[in-house]
This record gives sequence, C-alpha cells and structure tokens, in this order.
Amino acid sequence: MEKQGLRCRRLVLVPCPLQGHINPMLQLGSILHSKGFSITVAHTQFNSPNTCNHPDFVFLPLLSDDSSSARNDSDDFVVFLSSLNLKYKASLQELFTRIVEEQERHEGLPCIIYDALMYSVEEVAHSLKLPSIILGTSSAISWLAYFAYPRLREEGYIPSQGSKSMGLVPGLHPLRFKDLPLYDCKNEDRILELTATLRNIGTSSAIVWNSIDCLEQSSLSQLQQQFRVPNFSIGPMQKMAPTSSSSLWEEDHSCITWLDKQTENSVIYVSFGSLATLDEKELAEIAWGLANCKQPFLWVLRSDSVHGSNSADSLSDDFKETVGERGCIVNWACQEQVLAHRAVGGFFTHCGWNSTIESISEGVPMICSPILHDQRVNSRYISHVWRVGIELENGLEREEIEKAIKRLMVEKEGEEFRQRAANLKLKAELCIQKDGSSYNSLNKLVELIMSV
Ligand code: UDP
Repeated sequence: MEKQGLRCRRLVLVPCPLQGHINPMLQLGSILHSKGFSITVAHTQFNSPNTCNHPDFVFLPLLSDDSSSARNDSDDFVVFLSSLNLKYKASLQELFTRIVEEQERHEGLPCIIYDALMYSVEEVAHSLKLPSIILGTSSAISWLAYFAYPRLREEGYIPSQGSKSMGLVPGLHPLRFKDLPLYDCKNEDRILELTATLRNIGTSSAIVWNSIDCLEQSSLSQLQQQFRVPNFSIGPMQKMAPTSSSSLWEEDHSCITWLDKQTENSVIYVSFGSLATLDEKELAEIAWGLANCKQPFLWVLRSDSVHGSNSADSLSDDFKETVGERGCIVNWACQEQVLAHRAVGGFFTHCGWNSTIESISEGVPMICSPILHDQRVNSRYISHVWRVGIELENGLEREEIEKAIKRLMVEKEGEEFRQRAANLKLKAELCIQKDGSSYNSLNKLVELIMSV
C-alpha cells in the first residue's frame, strides 16, 4: 500500500498481551503507518513485543499497579482479562495524560486503537477526551457466539445444553452447543459481566474487525447491526503492508531449509499456537499419528506445550527413530513463511483465528483440532462452511489423526479441499486489491481517523 502523504497524526495502539492479539494489532499499526500515521505502542511488560523489529514505532511500557504481573496463568480466561484490565488502568491513565500534554503542543490529540479485550482503555481515553477505536482480533462469528450467551441462557438453552451437546444453536447455525466458546469459563456471573462489558463500546468511534468480507460477510453485517458506529473489516492484514515479526519466541528459520528439501505439497505443518497445552497422552497420540501417516511433517512443539515437562523430552526414542529425517520439530516457527512454502500441503491446527486466516491466505487446507476459546467456532466454519478442512471429531487420537492426514494429503478427496482453499485464497487476494472490500474499508478507516 502506498503512502498517501504524511498525515502525522499519532495513533496509540494498546494490544492485549497475548501472541494472537499482538500480531494483528502490530499488523494494523504497520498498515496505518504505511498510510502516513505515526505509531506508538503502549504495551505491558509481560509479553512485551520485540521493539527492535519495529524501528518505525515508538514503544511505551505500561506498569502493573501490583507486584504480581498479570500473567495468563489463570485457567479461567475471564478472570485473567478482568485482572489484566484492572492492573494496568492507572498506568494507562498516567501514560495517556503524558502523551496528551506532549502532543497538544505539536499535532493535536492522538487517536487510541485498543484491543476489545483491553476494555478499560475506553474509560481512560474518554476521561481525557481522546477519540478511540476498537480492534476485534477474533473471528466475527466468534463475537456473535459470545454475544449470544445471555440470550441462550435467558431462553433456557444454557446450561441444559451442555458442552458436549451436538444440538444446533438457535440463530447460530451451523454452530452446535459444543462449539460455543464460553464453556471453558467457570463462573457464570463473570461470563455475563464480560459479555456485557464487551458489548458496551462506550464512546468509541468505530470498530475494526480482523476479518475478511469474503469469509464472514453475514456475521460482519450482523455485527454492524448490533453496533451503531462504523465497522470496518480489514484483512488479511499480514498481506496489506510489509510487517516484521511480532513473535514473542525466537523463530527457528532452519525449518525453511528443511522445507526446501521436501517435494511440493508433501509436508503437513503442525502447530497449536501460543497458548494451547497438551497432556502427555495427547502428545503421544499426535506423535504416533504423525509417525504412522508416513508423510513428512514440520511440528511446532513449544517447550511449554506439555504440562510439567519439556515437550521435546517427552517424545520417546522409539518415535524419534521411527520418523528420523521425515520429521522436523521446532520450538517456534516463522509461520507465515512456512504456510507460504510450496512444500506445505496441509496445516494440522488448533484453529486460532490468526492461524486460520494465514492458512486461508496461502490456500493451505487444514486438519482442525480446536482446544479452547473461539477455536471450536472457527473449526466448525473451516470444516462446514468454507469446507477447507477436516475436523477431528474425537479429540486427539492417533488413528484418527493418521486417517485425516492421509485424506488431506494423499487421497483424491484432498484435491477437493486444496481446490476450495485455492479459490478462497484468490477471493481473499481480491479483497485487498483496489476497490476490494478490505481496501475500501481501510480507506474509510483512514478518513474516519482524520475526522475524529
Ligand atoms: N505463530 C508463529 N510461529 C509459530 C506458531 C504460531 O509465528 O510457531 C503465530 C501465528 O502465525 C499466528 C499466532 O502466532 O499469527 C498465533 O495466533 P492464533 O490466533 O493462531 O493462535 P493463539 O496463539 O492465539 O492460540
């Protein structure tokens, strides 16, 4: 995207400090920087982004107002979010005040862009009369699923339809009750509080969705009806401006050298993102599913993937001998480069939303094994709406994994998945070209930022 004159207006980005949230926020920052805005990132010290990779941005740390930093060590995501918002509010207030004092003398007030999960930002921005815009980093359909929770509870579907129910959710077909995101959380009152908080956008001027019209047009229109402010769907963001890595772990580029030696579309890439953890049994099932499928594989196995032990140490010698050079295991990969590699023919994924969009943007079909949060919703759409993936219905089980990999990578059916994925990739490309939906949304967002 070419620079449209120097706009100079300062944008202050406040990402949620999780990998799947930092990436789209910094990508949006790069896109808006390419449009001439100056970018400041207000970030927590916990999971602080690698500032060296973004020399054009200014990074300002937020301090937690209690000594225990807000780590994601709570097994209840709602609790994690509320503590995160509470702990950084005072520091946000202090930092925004400082920015306003500095800025007023130069170019006028900055505009704040904050992750929807950092909801306390709105109140702070409002108190200083700063305009703000929300970024929703998950799929549009998963937001609709979150927002449906109070209605489903009121109508008596929840809790009677439990987390294993295959029944279709009224108003959200083809989602089943078992696909809904909030079953992981323990305290119902807190869930209702969170959905109400997320729905209340306060005085924010607009919402940016990390999504693409060609994937989620109907869900995006439903969201636009629910929120009166302008909604912009902008994606695939990683394709809209050159973006440096925002990885919290060091990327192991040796996997690209290994991929270079493999034949076209032969490799199954395996990654469950930045948060999901496995138990030893699940790890062994994945390992033997990969060993038995006979395809080459590239597996991202974070050292903290398995509870209580170093993941790679948990793999048996028998497994390592069986796979030999056919398998490449790394702690963290340069995922976008991996998915764009000609050797990669399939992605065995947890269906995190960024991974989903990245896979679709490269035309790579998927094997879906969702683990938490919105991943089940995404998995259902990948397998039953866009039909570019196979869902593992019975969890992580070696025979099923082996069978799914063969279906996708070897059998004729795999060609159909590959063709649909290639078609979807083309559609996504059109969205970012001149007069495409994301291209137009971005221009409207720029106009809105200049006007608020
Ligand atoms: N990612 C990466 N290297 C890896 C695994 C993941 O760079 O080895 C990136 C991936 O490209 C994506 C992000 O980490 O942008 C993970 O986000 P996602 O929403 O897919 O899942 P989450 O980590 O939030 O569960």
